[in-house]
Amino acid sequence: MEKVVVIQRISCLLLILLLVASALPVLAADHGETAYTQARRQYLRLLQSEAKQKHRDNWERVIHAFEQVAHDYPRHRREVDALYMAGRCWEGLYENSHNAADARRAIAAYDRLVERYPDSRLADDGLFFGGELARQLADFPGAYLRFTRVVEDYPKGDMLARARNGLELLDRVPAAAAAAPAVGMNAAPSAAHPSNPAPAPAAATGEGRLEGIRFWSNPNYTRVVLDLDHKVHYHSQVLGSGSDAATTRRLFIDLEATDPAPEVGPSLDVKDGLLSRIRTGRSADGTTRVVLDLTSLGDFTVFELSKPQRIVIDVRGEEPGAAAPAAPTGGDTIGGLLKKAPAEAPLPSVANRKHRGPLCIVVDAGHGGKDPGAIGPDGVLEKNVTLAMAKELARELPKMVPCKVILTRDHDIFIPLEERTALANKARADLFISLHANASPSHAAYGTETFFLNLAKNDRAAELAARENGTSLEDVGALEAILFDLMAHAKINESSRLASDIQRHLVSSLSNHYSHVRNLGVKQGPFYVLLGATMPSVLVESAFISHPREEKRLNSSRFRSRSAAAIAAGVKAYVDSMKLLVQR
Ligand SMILES: [Zn+2]
Repeated sequence: MEKVVVIQRISCLLLILLLVASALPVLAADHGETAYTQARRQYLRLLQSEAKQKHRDNWERVIHAFEQVAHDYPRHRREVDALYMAGRCWEGLYENSHNAADARRAIAAYDRLVERYPDSRLADDGLFFGGELARQLADFPGAYLRFTRVVEDYPKGDMLARARNGLELLDRVPAAAAAAPAVGMNAAPSAAHPSNPAPAPAAATGEGRLEGIRFWSNPNYTRVVLDLDHKVHYHSQVLGSGSDAATTRRLFIDLEATDPAPEVGPSLDVKDGLLSRIRTGRSADGTTRVVLDLTSLGDFTVFELSKPQRIVIDVRGEEPGAAAPAAPTGGDTIGGLLKKAPAEAPLPSVANRKHRGPLCIVVDAGHGGKDPGAIGPDGVLEKNVTLAMAKELARELPKMVPCKVILTRDHDIFIPLEERTALANKARADLFISLHANASPSHAAYGTETFFLNLAKNDRAAELAARENGTSLEDVGALEAILFDLMAHAKINESSRLASDIQRHLVSSLSNHYSHVRNLGVKQGPFYVLLGATMPSVLVESAFISHPREEKRLNSSRFRSRSAAAIAAGVKAYVDSMKLLVQR
């Protein structure tokens, strides 16, 4: 009996072995299936943990796995599944990140599926989900296109009812937001229903996001910065108040296709000098309007900076005795106030100061915190050099001229460039000096140069401005286009004189102590940190941190204190030449 059982067991085992052996060649050959199964398993694990779903890298790992299957096994039966799953995962990531770029990646994955496998059972799913995401991103033509294809090309598919419903929702989007549908989509119901007052809330969701609002004011000036998650179209207008037009003004900025972040409340009482209140509202067409209530409004400048994207609004108050603005007739008028000539704005400068007392000089240590600035071949960081030199300069300046010194930063902290100028304007500073260390891709470049704000005269100045601004050369090109508007209040002549005095003293003083001191001269360039400064302002590049010899110098306290003393001597020469001391 026992023998029989053993034999039976052996034959059972043999049978299993045979089955496994016959199956093995097939399994071993199907790497595509294995890779897909593994990616799918990762996906299911991610779905089981809400905590894991909060982390971008977890999603990206799974997405990569699916995309790898599609890439490595084209025309494998799992390619279509992998493309579909990649789309689902990008979508899952988007639901957590709310980052429009993730939604666009999902749409791209679905589109690829439809393009490669139009006859697949997943094609209409890809079209519908892609259309739904396009609708959420306010890409209404894109949504129409996809929903219409589901209805026309896949009438027997399981997405038909949902696509029809999507088209109905789109029909309620205001015409202006929906834009002209592409050719061939006129079968879709007309998008023009201006009388319909109730767009579906989700349909008007903008693509941009107003992340925050920052501001700095004094009674005559305010700078407001709108932080955005990416570039948006905007326009600005002024409105007179109906009741008290002579003293109250409103300026608004409309941000197209933009939602305010939840942290940005509808109204903020500021009561800080010129700026009394900031209000934010979103219209049905997806535009976010930011209204600045001002105690007076002389003129204003709006410009945008990139990386990160932000819109800067500089408002100057009305000068006492300036002509009263045209009174609004019958509520809000726009054109007259908008065309009003900019007020002559003789803001305090060293040469023409209305208030007495010591000068106020803002010393700006370049970079800081997460922004190290340029890094030398031996690892010396520009942000540390500039901070040490700024502290030294703050000690030296009062020895040379009666003055109060304000440091934009006195420790290792990140401060956006536009905030530095805003602080100087708010403090009504008489001079603004930004300290930096130069850098060049060529380790042979060395020397000393001082800049003031203007269009770049040559490519190297433009390159340096791009580096100091943390942007690209293209951004500098775009900046030069708006610079013209900003120059009206910039003290260009005074800035160039201040730059010359500082540069001359720096070079002559350093030459007394060091060999190979090279005078690169006074230059001009479009530096963010100098934009909108209402006082003479310069940017000093005392040496090249990218040059080994000059990196060593910048890293020595002796060189830094000598440089600071020379800059202070330059400031004194400038102040003397402006005959300031005679006025006191
Ligand atoms: Zn710098």
